[in-house]
Amino acid sequence: MYTQISKLSQYIGQEVTLKGWLNNKRSSGSIAFLELRDGSGFIQCVVSKKEVTEEIWSEVEKSTQESSVEITGIVSKHPKQVDLYELQAKSYKLIQLSIDYPIANKDHGPEFLMDNRHLWLRSKKQWAILRVRDVVITAINGYLHSQGFIKVDSPIFTPNACEGTTTLFAVPYFDEGSAYLSQSGQLYIEAAIASVGRCYDFGPVFRAEKSKTKRHLSEFWMMDAEGAFIEHEENLQIQEGLIKYIIKKTLENCQVELNILERNIEPLKKVLELPFIRLTYKEAIKKLTELGSDIKYGEDLGNDDEGLLTKDSAVPVFIEKWDKGIKPFYMKLDQEDPTRVLNDDLIAIEGAGEIIGGSQREDNFDLLLERIRHEGLSEKEYEWYTDLRKYGSVPHSGFGIGLERMVRWMTGVEHIRECIPFPRTINRLKP
Ligand code: ATP
Repeated sequence: MYTQISKLSQYIGQEVTLKGWLNNKRSSGSIAFLELRDGSGFIQCVVSKKEVTEEIWSEVEKSTQESSVEITGIVSKHPKQVDLYELQAKSYKLIQLSIDYPIANKDHGPEFLMDNRHLWLRSKKQWAILRVRDVVITAINGYLHSQGFIKVDSPIFTPNACEGTTTLFAVPYFDEGSAYLSQSGQLYIEAAIASVGRCYDFGPVFRAEKSKTKRHLSEFWMMDAEGAFIEHEENLQIQEGLIKYIIKKTLENCQVELNILERNIEPLKKVLELPFIRLTYKEAIKKLTELGSDIKYGEDLGNDDEGLLTKDSAVPVFIEKWDKGIKPFYMKLDQEDPTRVLNDDLIAIEGAGEIIGGSQREDNFDLLLERIRHEGLSEKEYEWYTDLRKYGSVPHSGFGIGLERMVRWMTGVEHIRECIPFPRTINRLKP
């Protein structure tokens, strides 16, 4: 019976066939320990020379790391570890012999590993990260649907910028001149809420900013959510609910993976128990000044500032109601204090930095137009967007979460480039 490693608990004492790749091999001359991986998990297969034919034993002997193989044997519980199984091999087939696999089970430098990303993905740690990434994606989709959001999609080729052109990748586009790769689908899903009420997009976005930090990619996956009749307060509640749901699902479904990644899960468990902290931008600046930062009112928070604000915090911190001067034109002015907007950045703990940016959107036609003019943006280009404020405008809010930032936090890996299968950064386009 052909099955997968993840299903072996159903087959104790029975004969099964597994197909996969050799992760590792140790041999003592008369007994070989083969670590097999099949994508669903890892298992130790034991081949005893005296239990198999000479032909099979010689196949085992010549097998190397990453050879593709098929092993048939009896499933038993691992003698020492719970929830782990072993396969006592009876038969063995080498599908393809892997010769001189470049990534040995030893330390390699990051550049070498990145050059070999197509192979590096097979390593245990990268396998674990890919699986956590999948659980985070599934959790995001699940939570949003539970809150009445449906997935609509936004275009990747866009004619104009959401927030200026300096960080956009331009591409030639037929007779239209340049198109720009989207850096957020927000404006488009704002249009879709008047059709479906609550919706989101989830796909790759592109930023041409020359950031060389451990949390910036030039291509990353973003989920933008948007909802009609959602105001600032509810927007924050949805964001907090989403983050807690992602953590809960990651802890439930990724025990093996988090263990491989040596992730201390205590801080994540704690986040589930407490409400998130909220600071206004003004309060954040005051606190930062007290903590020794030289940040001035009206400036954006740097990486160090985000670290300072969250260093003693057990939960993520919302920084809300920023000065309107440093935020984009579409954010709604706060009626209580029109020098600021109804927005938030959510800063995660454990040095993970900003993971969400959100806001209530300006729904008043005249005010929106005034902001567009004030920022020197083209009224014509944004005509379709301002149209949305002409025909049944409603209060609405939304936010964007960076998938890889979230995966980086959940896995605890240091560099964001490991949180996407094939990273694109300022100095990496291959493989
Ligand atoms: P930062 O200040 O950290 O550069 P930002 O303010 O430009 O981020 P937004 O435009 O609000 O970010 O984007 C929403 C979310 O997308 C961020 O909170 C973050 O999770 C993610 N994000 C933004 N830029 C990047 C990037 N270059 N690489 C990976 N994720 C990113």
